[in-house]
Amino acid sequence: MVAQSRPSSKVASVSVPDGIRPPAALLPLYEVPDACGGLYDEVADCPSCVLAKTRSRTVPGSGPATCDLMFIGEAPGQREDELGLPFVGRSGQFLDELLASIGRARIDVYVTNVVKCRPPANRDPNPDEISACADFLERQIAIVEPRVIATLGRFSMAKWFPGERISQIHGRAVQRDGRWVVPMYHPAAALRDGSLRAVMKQDFAQIPGLLSGVSS
Ligand code: SF4
Repeated sequence: MVAQSRPSSKVASVSVPDGIRPPAALLPLYEVPDACGGLYDEVADCPSCVLAKTRSRTVPGSGPATCDLMFIGEAPGQREDELGLPFVGRSGQFLDELLASIGRARIDVYVTNVVKCRPPANRDPNPDEISACADFLERQIAIVEPRVIATLGRFSMAKWFPGERISQIHGRAVQRDGRWVVPMYHPAAALRDGSLRAVMKQDFAQIPGLLSGVSS
């Protein structure tokens, strides 16, 4: 496991919601690194797409400001919208399981989505919303400077692999802008289709090699 710097301070943009008691295991994810605080505050005030009208809370991301490994999913769901943290529902539990399988923990990786606000009824984010939110994602990548980016699901995959199908390219890492980008199924897909659990574990198993510079 590669040693990671821990978040160093808290800002108000990502905080424990009033009246909600998150599981104790999630509390460290509310720690926001100084380098992300300004961006998270901008996200919290962002009116740039229609999702601003229906969100409860923005969900900018979690994890250390400088980190070797970054995961990019699709959009917050209901639980994420309540808690202001990405991947904290059942998909998040499976993501934690996948991370444990490679000796990593959530607190040591950076996690975000292509849109930072929940689409109503968990519909797919539309192209206008993804485009409106794209600058936040670019800035997060520039801050975090990950050695490996794992896309989770087709919307983040499309940023680097437009027109491709996840069923055909999952687990195939490519180099983009000096880092590895590896497309993976979204953990929710494995919850719907149990056969994908083993596929995802296999895809995750190559991450340590990518991080150490040894591609499979
Ligand atoms: S999804 Fe992104 S662009 Fe749209 S309101 Fe939320 S933060 Fe702004």
